[in-house]
Amino acid sequence: MTKFKYEEFTWPEIKTAVAQNRVAVLPVGTTEQHGPHLPLVTDVLTATEMSRLAVERIPEEAVLLPSVHYSFNEHHMDFPGTIAIAGETIVRYVTDIGTSLARHGFRKILIVNGHGSNVPFLDIAARNITNGSDAVAAMASWWSLIPKEVITNLRESEFPGGMAHGCELETSVLLHLRPDLVQMDKAERDISFQSTEFFYWDLQNPSPIFFQEWFSRYSRTGTVGDPTKATAAKGEVFVNAVVDRMVNLIREFRAREIAPRVDHH
Ligand SMILES: [Zn+2]
Repeated sequence: MTKFKYEEFTWPEIKTAVAQNRVAVLPVGTTEQHGPHLPLVTDVLTATEMSRLAVERIPEEAVLLPSVHYSFNEHHMDFPGTIAIAGETIVRYVTDIGTSLARHGFRKILIVNGHGSNVPFLDIAARNITNGSDAVAAMASWWSLIPKEVITNLRESEFPGGMAHGCELETSVLLHLRPDLVQMDKAERDISFQSTEFFYWDLQNPSPIFFQEWFSRYSRTGTVGDPTKATAAKGEVFVNAVVDRMVNLIREFRAREIAPRVDHH
């Protein structure tokens, strides 16, 4: 079995992995409340496990970095357990990880995101890495990799609002990956968020505008969505869909040529 976990390599082995043009895959989650039925580690676990399953399938084409466990989530601080990192810190931290990889010669860096509120910060971090090195960095949130029709076929909760946080989607995925960490007897539907034309929240088809309020203003339980509709069988389909597409994404990214810059001054 080819080695793929970054932290298990020696330095000569890293040199070889760079020569093999492997894609560096960095899962980024967060440590935050996910309602009364899911653990704080949910977003780390989803990003890490899906990345691991993908890289494990093509170990000679990628390396899996140790995950980032903490990130931006100030808006969850009204619920116990959340660890909130400032936006500037997470941008800087992930930029430094990617830039280090680039300095060792990795040219393709894929950030796999498990937390909705990471999107703007990881987008900036990926751009910083690309602009500040010879590498190209890209970011993908795992739920964006699920083909729309896969979600539509299985979805039972209402749109919008049924799939947002600790919801039908996330709870299904956890029921498949780590059923021992899910307390379904405590799962409760909580969709008190006022959905209007522009202000709504759903992972399947996000609102055209960006906004985020204090979570406790519109969620009583810490959940937004309907986790009572979650099943392990749906979770398996969602996870397989993400992993299949992530394998294709890694391969496409690896094969992609980096064109030379042209200075037109
Ligand atoms: Zn989450």
